[in-house]
Amino acid sequence: MTHRVAIVGAGPSGFYAADGLLRARSDLHIDIIDRLPTPYGLVRAGVAPDHQGTKAVVRQFEKILAQPDVRFAGNVEIGRDLSWQELSVAYDAVIVATGMVIDRKLGVPGEALAHVWGSWRFVAWLNGHPDHRQGPDLSRVRTVAVIGNGNVALDVARLLAKSADEMAKSDIVAEAGAAIAAAPLADIHVIGRRGPEHASFTNNELAEMGRLARAVAVTDAQSLAVAPPASDQTPERLRKQKNLDILRGFAGRQVGEKPIAVHFLFNAAPVAIRPGELELTTGKLPADLVVTCIGYGGEAFPKTPGMFAVGWAKRGPSGTIPTNRAESHAVAQQVLDWLETRDPLSGPDILPLAVDAAGWHRIDKHEIAAGAAAGRPRVKLTDWRTCWRSRKPAERSMLMH
Ligand SMILES: Cc1cc2nc3c(=O)[nH]c(=O)nc-3n(C[C@H](O)[C@H](O)[C@H](O)COP(=O)(O)OP(=O)(O)OC[C@H]3O[C@@H](n4cnc5c(N)ncnc54)[C@H](O)[C@@H]3O)c2cc1C
Repeated sequence: MTHRVAIVGAGPSGFYAADGLLRARSDLHIDIIDRLPTPYGLVRAGVAPDHQGTKAVVRQFEKILAQPDVRFAGNVEIGRDLSWQELSVAYDAVIVATGMVIDRKLGVPGEALAHVWGSWRFVAWLNGHPDHRQGPDLSRVRTVAVIGNGNVALDVARLLAKSADEMAKSDIVAEAGAAIAAAPLADIHVIGRRGPEHASFTNNELAEMGRLARAVAVTDAQSLAVAPPASDQTPERLRKQKNLDILRGFAGRQVGEKPIAVHFLFNAAPVAIRPGELELTTGKLPADLVVTCIGYGGEAFPKTPGMFAVGWAKRGPSGTIPTNRAESHAVAQQVLDWLETRDPLSGPDILPLAVDAAGWHRIDKHEIAAGAAAGRPRVKLTDWRTCWRSRKPAERSMLMH
């Protein structure tokens, strides 16, 4: 008999937790459960489709899935297919790695209008998340307001600004890529309510905005007469200083150099959204599409003994993929300490029929083969009702175990 651990959420923090556990106890039985039929959480559904290098982290996670006592159980949603209570009774420990992807609200009038999109809904559409197959109508979108000053705001602006050629080697879903390529885009405003010295862009991602084929990045030099806050730690000060240098480069560029202008606008807070218009504390802007990139909230989960949270579910929506590693390893140690005090349970296996690792590998192979035919890394399967749920039994068995 050995202990059994359920990890709910097959994103980075869940995999790093499994890694931490297995490093100390390779005998553990670990079930990694996800509501999607596909693993890897935001690496698949959040990280921008043109940043394939970042997505390569999944190779580490594949090795964990290949361990003999690790099972993947996709298409199993805790709270729907099994309750948290059932899990906590059936497993010696439960790790909650469910992330946080409910778009935070701006809290201004007009936010419910159809042309206002939260960044999660928008990015999930581009990335083929099966819950978000419908994107915005871009056919008449000339002006876009991207609200926020983090890397997700840069992702959104860049993905709209890039040419079809620049996206050719990405795994953006075909409909989204075609809609962006056909949109009459002219101006994209990236809007920060504070000054550029507070922006949380990372240097490489900001610099990339200056190298786009069909878009020029511009900003007003006057807003750049600032310095990073002296109270910041050195690495943070250096990052901000470098951002200011990059933005100064943008200030020397001209609208009209390329078909699209990406304007960086600072010290401007949203006041109201109206059809075709965004009102800021500094004035009004035309905006046929508004994308808010201002962070996320998450679903509540029970916090009972034997349940341990990791990743965004624990810390909130901040930190990159590597940030999750050390934290998940530390939580894995707490789980190991907890298991130390308990005899293994001996109840039945409660997992319902799921997409297992072999099923996921079939999906993976299918997507990669479809991508190879189009010269892309993969073409994602995005419709879970027709793809995974309502297929004929013979086809379903191809994907399920
Ligand atoms: C748009 C965007 C872009 C990003 N780009 C980058 C980047 O370029 N580089 C970088 O380093 N970081 C990036 N990040 C941050 C990175 O994605 C996160 O740090 C990381 O994914 C958090 O991992 P997690 O495991 O906590 O959550 P997630 O990755 O969100 O994984 C949670 C998993 O839990 C599953 N789940 C949720 N509820 C349930 C349930 N009830 N039952 C079963 N399963 C459930 C979900 O389906 C999901 O698979 C980005 C984030 C976003 C939002």
